[in-house]
Amino acid sequence: MYLLYLDDAGSVTSSREDHFILSGICLFERQIHFLNSELDKLAAQIYPENPRALEFHGSHMLPGKGFWRSLPKEERRKWLRNALATARRLRGTWALFGVVVEKAAVSPEDPIEYAFEQLCSRFDRFLKRLYRQGNKQRGLMILDKSTRETRLQSMAVEFKDVGHRWGVMHSIADVPMFVDSAATRCIQFADLLSYALWRKFERGDDEFFNVVDDAFDQEGGIVHGLLHRKAADSYCDCPYCVTRGARLL
Ligand SMILES: [Zn+2]
Repeated sequence: MYLLYLDDAGSVTSSREDHFILSGICLFERQIHFLNSELDKLAAQIYPENPRALEFHGSHMLPGKGFWRSLPKEERRKWLRNALATARRLRGTWALFGVVVEKAAVSPEDPIEYAFEQLCSRFDRFLKRLYRQGNKQRGLMILDKSTRETRLQSMAVEFKDVGHRWGVMHSIADVPMFVDSAATRCIQFADLLSYALWRKFERGDDEFFNVVDDAFDQEGGIVHGLLHRKAADSYCDCPYCVTRGARLL
């Protein structure tokens, strides 16, 4: 079984933000323990007194909320990069998935629905590719239950219907599950990835994205695991735009 841990970033309703992001990490069942323990080890370096109490959340780490306020900004940036880099120590097949939607590009469509559908179909394509290679695994999506966009929760409830409509139900084992981010560091990793994408696309800061920019699902030099849906004819250096030669929309 492959599990895709997901979290979102960016506000759909705020007119001050242009992007909505849904992204995460796809792990084979045996890799879950490894990523959790790598992030546990990092937490023990950062906060040896009580590593279990330390959660990795991008929007806490970079601005310096809670515990993170006690650390200098450069150190917080370093820990955020190091936390993302833990995935690089995974062995075997794993991949990142992310959908970056410029809200104006899909209006009046719901950007959450658009992102969720795209993510499901990209995850499904990954599983079907493995199937063709003789690796018959099914997939399951796991989301942070405290996601700000509650629309994601209702979409998960409707998933059986919409999943059939999108044709992805054969490879996905069940409706998406919701877990507490405190309970699994894999969801915290998805939070960090969504934050890294938000920093790049919303704020033009690619320091964190660059740590993992080549880890999105790809085949034959084409990136399938990342989608950048943009509104304007603007140059973009992200792996999705570059590998499609779609510098101009
Ligand atoms: Zn792009």
